[in-house]
Amino acid sequence: MMKVRRYLRGSGRVLAFVFIASVIWLLFDMAALRISINDVNSQLLKERVLREREADRQRSRVTQLMKRGFKNPVQKVDLALIHAGKEPFDSDMQLSQVYRKGGKKWDQMMGDKKVNSFEQQGGNVPQADRSKSALSNYQERAALQNVTSKHAVPARKKAVHLDLNGAKLESSRVVDNSNKDTSSVVVPNITPRSPGAPTTSEKRPGKDAVKKDVDQLHSEKNKKVNDEPEIKTGSKLSQIAAKEGHGVKTTSRTPNKDVKEKKKNPEKANEKSDTNVAKPPGPTTKLPPGEKSKDNSAAVRKPGLHKVLALDVTLTPRDPNAVGQFGQAAVVASNENEEVMKRWDEGHFNVFLSEQIPVDRAIPDTRPETCAQNLVHDDLPSTSVIFCFVDEVWSTLLRSVHSVLNRSPPHLLKEIILVDDFSTKDYLKKPLDEYMSQFAKVRIIRLKERQGLIRARIAGAAVAKGEVLTFLDSHVECNVGWLEPLLERIYLDRKKVPCPVIEVINDKDMSYMLVDNFQRGIFKWPLVFGWNALPKEYIRKNNMTISDPIRCPVMAGGLFSIDKKYFYELGTYDPGLDVWGGENMEISFKIWMCGGEIEIIPCSRVGHIFRGQNPYKFPKDRQKTVERNLARVAEVWLDEYKDLFYGHGYHHLQNRNVIDIGNLTEQIELRKKLKCKSFKWYLENVYPDMVAPLVKAEGLVFNRGLRKCLAVQEGFLSFEICDLSKQSQHFNYTWMRHIRQKNLCVALQGTDNSFALQLCDNIKPEQRWIHKSANSALAEHLITELVSHHMCLEAAPRGDSLHLNPCEPSKAFQKWQFTHYYAQ
Ligand code: UDP
Ligand code: MN
Repeated sequence: MMKVRRYLRGSGRVLAFVFIASVIWLLFDMAALRISINDVNSQLLKERVLREREADRQRSRVTQLMKRGFKNPVQKVDLALIHAGKEPFDSDMQLSQVYRKGGKKWDQMMGDKKVNSFEQQGGNVPQADRSKSALSNYQERAALQNVTSKHAVPARKKAVHLDLNGAKLESSRVVDNSNKDTSSVVVPNITPRSPGAPTTSEKRPGKDAVKKDVDQLHSEKNKKVNDEPEIKTGSKLSQIAAKEGHGVKTTSRTPNKDVKEKKKNPEKANEKSDTNVAKPPGPTTKLPPGEKSKDNSAAVRKPGLHKVLALDVTLTPRDPNAVGQFGQAAVVASNENEEVMKRWDEGHFNVFLSEQIPVDRAIPDTRPETCAQNLVHDDLPSTSVIFCFVDEVWSTLLRSVHSVLNRSPPHLLKEIILVDDFSTKDYLKKPLDEYMSQFAKVRIIRLKERQGLIRARIAGAAVAKGEVLTFLDSHVECNVGWLEPLLERIYLDRKKVPCPVIEVINDKDMSYMLVDNFQRGIFKWPLVFGWNALPKEYIRKNNMTISDPIRCPVMAGGLFSIDKKYFYELGTYDPGLDVWGGENMEISFKIWMCGGEIEIIPCSRVGHIFRGQNPYKFPKDRQKTVERNLARVAEVWLDEYKDLFYGHGYHHLQNRNVIDIGNLTEQIELRKKLKCKSFKWYLENVYPDMVAPLVKAEGLVFNRGLRKCLAVQEGFLSFEICDLSKQSQHFNYTWMRHIRQKNLCVALQGTDNSFALQLCDNIKPEQRWIHKSANSALAEHLITELVSHHMCLEAAPRGDSLHLNPCEPSKAFQKWQFTHYYAQ
């Protein structure tokens, strides 16, 4: 003890102090290593991205030179504007410049938008609002057109409030590049962000975050050097640690040998190498509530992580004054309205305006704030993006392709496959081939006859080389950082099928609009797709934040990623589905019931033009095509619940003499082979808030006038004193509108108004009775479907027979009541 005290005196004390200080320094150093590794990884990926971009650019220049004669039929290249685009935003910039012909002021317009919101009406149709904003005009039109698209606009859509000051700040940074060597002009993420967007409570990344992004991309080398000393200072370290820790869903992985290796030799560590064995990392984003990770991905994973890349590159500097730039609304001069209307039907949106918007316009980064900080794996699978189209509008098809090329990390984008579903427009032939030939990654495949969206997608998948298939509609704009969060989910579990949040590109003014948080895709009977907000209680109970993946009972259909092998394991889509419609139900039920999961990923956002009508022709009648598709889905996947589908207005589909839904043997076999779960399981586990009673009513069938109950005695109908315990008095009123006991149904027989019990048959109208119909005067009556005029089932006053008589609202002998009602 004395010895120790002696050591702590004089020089010993100094030595001890130095020793402790060194240990603390070492600990800080190790922490700094952990934090900086993510930045280094991001940096490395970005460098790779820039290198690939540069190579692409060189290639494209060569091709462009070779095709000097080719003129993009749409985009008018205005040299004056391009020059203007090189200038930093002028602080006196007239906001009205962003509109084609002046007119409305930006803030005035946005003010209008802010106060308007869509209300869901009748499932999918946004409520009409009579105010004068662009948004309300849209609503009005949508309501009038009775939107039936499966991509129906989600409830409560609101406009993004763009912060032009933010844009100004970012643009001025970006524009600096124009003075540099233009061969390496890259415009990173110039999308304006608003710190206080009116649509959600989420905060947008502030200017500092934007500055960081921009700086990172423009001074990669300096940044690498600068990062470390910054992080190593004690106070900075704690600041950064606090910042990184907040809202970042990191893996539970602890830094290990390979992290140090990366620090020493980042290039080498980043290379794909199977010798780099490590424990599979935990999820980087939270799993949906109540879910365990099902990491059935390969056991050997490389553990590197990086922050989601926020790329937004372009081949030319963006013109800040261009129409629709930054996703802003544009208006058309009144004298051009006629032209707008004339062109409308080409795509069922403002085709005229779309042509004037740059094919690579910037759009606001609408992701929840934390998304930019999320970590994803370095070795995500690559994807083939598949666009199917038939007679798509040129400008939107190009904008869709450019948005993928500009905002996807090139090392993850294996290719873009354009599947031309036998379009009739000339511009989609040679001119499209020529235009796309400047992009090495774009392939066009052309179908020899019209196959419809479903078989066109299957054709695209068949030639895809990526590990993941990403299907997109051909009138979309992928937002910043859209791809990695989708691929990350598949990386974590190959049976996850992630969908981006589908935002709205306004069909009238082409503005990019945010959607509400916590929206999921659902269906209502009879298999009608719709959007529905997660119940507040569910969000609270599961501690959900706005960036957490959302379990989605049904996908909208147009936009999703899926592991290619898994897609084939599932037997792709049912190839017997025609043209459009129902395929989103089919793939959704198949995925959920056969072991997969569908999720909406809030950190991945893609804008989509929701159209009021399909702009292309259906080879057969549209309604019949969709009905037929849905019937196929119901027959294969709904089990006993298919009655609910047919019972909601589709009785006629059961008559195979009237409608041929094709052969289902393969689909039924597939379901057996995959050992898929029942539809009951799906309802209970995936969509428990769905109301799906198997019968409409059940129990005793009480006649009000007679005050007795219907019964079956030795195979004949009779009346008895009501007795709940007697099975002979127990009937179901089914979705087929049958009054049914076991397999026997009450039927009108012959021409002499007599009644009998017949073996139930879904096709025979003489077995169908309308009960509790909307016609309140006859709500308690049983109206036969056999004749068009109202004829009702009536008990004889003596209780010995049944008759069919003209319906009389007040006649008690025509009024019937079941013990329990489950649906109207
Ligand atoms: N499509 C196709 N062949 C068809 C019907 C549609 O290739 O027979 C394409 C269409 O061009 C679009 C995608 O499939 O890119 C989805 O169709 P649409 O946008 O009409 O569906 P919605 O968004 O209305 O659900
Ligand atoms: Mn679409």
